[in-house]
Amino acid sequence: MTYLFDPEPVRTAVVQGESATYPVRRIFCVGRNYAEHAREMGGEVDREAPFYFTKSPLALTRSGETVPYPPGTTDFQHEMEFVVALGAQAFRIATQDALGVVFGYACGLDMTRRDLQAAAKDKRRPWDTGKDFEHAAILGAITRTENVAPVGPQAISLAVNGVPRQAARLDDMVWSVAEIISHLSTLYHLGPGDLIYTGTPAGVGPVVPGDVLEGRIDGLPPVRLVIGAPE
Ligand code: MN
Repeated sequence: MTYLFDPEPVRTAVVQGESATYPVRRIFCVGRNYAEHAREMGGEVDREAPFYFTKSPLALTRSGETVPYPPGTTDFQHEMEFVVALGAQAFRIATQDALGVVFGYACGLDMTRRDLQAAAKDKRRPWDTGKDFEHAAILGAITRTENVAPVGPQAISLAVNGVPRQAARLDDMVWSVAEIISHLSTLYHLGPGDLIYTGTPAGVGPVVPGDVLEGRIDGLPPVRLVIGAPE
């Protein structure tokens, strides 16, 4: 079989301490998974079930890059997140079994064109242009689960130019990692290469060209991003 043009190369993530990379298949993101962030966005956590949006793998950019300030927005914002990288298939998996399909964890940034997302919310339209665009999913190195402490009171934080913006603990999450995987697996055949951005704590806010973002979670390599000039 021949292609009419060269297909996009598979996007990959770095795995801490290894030369082999993690090929990314899909990117799922959880909305409103920290109560304080839900409130700052003018909403409430839905206690019935988590909800999701997705990003294309083409949105993936590795930690350490400088990315252009994106087109179409005047309110480009950071969302620091704990990212789950799956390493096995899961369909209708029980909560008590769900952590068994996790390959590892990483620091990530769910970069957002907040003005476009807000306009979409107002008009009950999809969030895609606010959430799924080039360089909107930033990912630090993945650490294998066996090298990470169980998810609990680890600190998650983000600083812009050294000034703290977001700070919380992983056990502030409304839906646990196992609950998210179990629920998401009722909707999709999950598999290796699927990433789940598990939502952001309170303190999201705008960035401008020249800003340096550093996100940290205890026990994981940090995620760094520099905002470049507009395209
Ligand atoms: Mn988010």
